Amino acid sequence: MTTTRRRWMQSLALSSGATVAGSALLPLAGAAAGPDAAEPDAAEPDAAERASGETGAADVPKGAALSQALAAAMQAPVLRRERFASPLPIERVELLKTGKHFLVRVQSGGLSGYADAHSNVMSAASPILVRKVAPHFVGKDARDLEHTFHQAYLASSNYKWQGLPFWVSMAAVEMAILDLLGKAINQPIGALLGEVVRTSIGVYRASGNRGNSPEAEIEYLQQQVEETGAKAIKFRLGARMRYDDASTARDLALIPLTRKTFGDPFTIYADANGSYDVPTAVRIGKLMEEQKFRFFEEPVPFDYYEETKEIADSLQIPIALGEQEASLRNFRRIIERGIARVIQPDLMYSGGIIRAIKVARMAQVAGLECTPHMSGGGLGYLYVAHYASCVPNAGPHQEYKGKDDTLPVGSPTSPLTSVNGLLQVPSGPGLGIEFESSFLRAAKPIRA
Ligand SMILES: [Mg+2]
Repeated sequence: MTTTRRRWMQSLALSSGATVAGSALLPLAGAAAGPDAAEPDAAEPDAAERASGETGAADVPKGAALSQALAAAMQAPVLRRERFASPLPIERVELLKTGKHFLVRVQSGGLSGYADAHSNVMSAASPILVRKVAPHFVGKDARDLEHTFHQAYLASSNYKWQGLPFWVSMAAVEMAILDLLGKAINQPIGALLGEVVRTSIGVYRASGNRGNSPEAEIEYLQQQVEETGAKAIKFRLGARMRYDDASTARDLALIPLTRKTFGDPFTIYADANGSYDVPTAVRIGKLMEEQKFRFFEEPVPFDYYEETKEIADSLQIPIALGEQEASLRNFRRIIERGIARVIQPDLMYSGGIIRAIKVARMAQVAGLECTPHMSGGGLGYLYVAHYASCVPNAGPHQEYKGKDDTLPVGSPTSPLTSVNGLLQVPSGPGLGIEFESSFLRAAKPIRA
């Protein structure tokens, strides 16, 4: 059973064309046998297995053993501190702004690490980064990032401020420190946080449209696929946290139309953004199963855990969930209770790449995929690429919103764009990119 699924899962990853090292891929337990499967999966879990959230994989612990393994995965350190011989005292943490862009710059011993700070969020959240987050990292050894990060969460009652503006601020500082750490030992971020298992990643394009006609949406998706060569798409269902007759009519038409248009080898995902109630989600989910979709994201509002579990137990198609979560404990509950089978931390909203790797490790314990959500634009696609480079159970396609041409960055090791549906992960130090020097010169520190 396990062998069959493993082969199927590997075939999914390889059908995306991604370069995968080793055999660390996990089965996507109970996933609807996609049209891109090399062979039919005769090893679907039965209803009892799905109802208990178990996968049927021989190496997945159960009950108390699962609980203990999840706790251990949540607590284990991620940053490979042993790779750094010398201290790297952080001299300065600054939030810079130029035009609409916000950057974090971290400096130590003549080195600078940079991160794009999710400019959409930072335009409102900058005082939190400057006043409540940045000061807690100054003077600390960059090698102690994980410890310092936790101390910054506790300091000044910062935990009371948690929510998207706080976690995005923490994530942006973390990304800049990881860029600095990579530059210090000439290694890409993936090599600091694990083993690099992929040098390129398969991408999917996600449509943000709603309310347009099914035909107009198909035309839009075709354009997106043509531009990137992506072998997978995701589109939106419902009416965002609600549904009505018009949105349901669109959903019922669009689901089969995407399959008919893109054909059987294509991977299709859909995201309801919390639009449905349970009966409607089950009805729509069954149609997605018929059309061999690969996952069904946020069928009901994101914190309706019991309802999401009820839907998961009624369907074969895996439920995807997690982009609104920041609490590691909540991720653990979602995994342990079998509420979702594709776990989707947003690398910014959930507080950075290290926390998201902890989520991936918990998912791995349970035999599940962990495919991050990508919010905003900027360099988010590179954060996702570095994450997927070192997370064995990242799914076969990662969200790609396209290169932001307003951010003047280049890389000697990657075109930074999707070519034939693949994004080469920059292999240079840190994020593996360089900003245009004139852009950095124009960026001025923000004083809170
Ligand atoms: Mg979503």
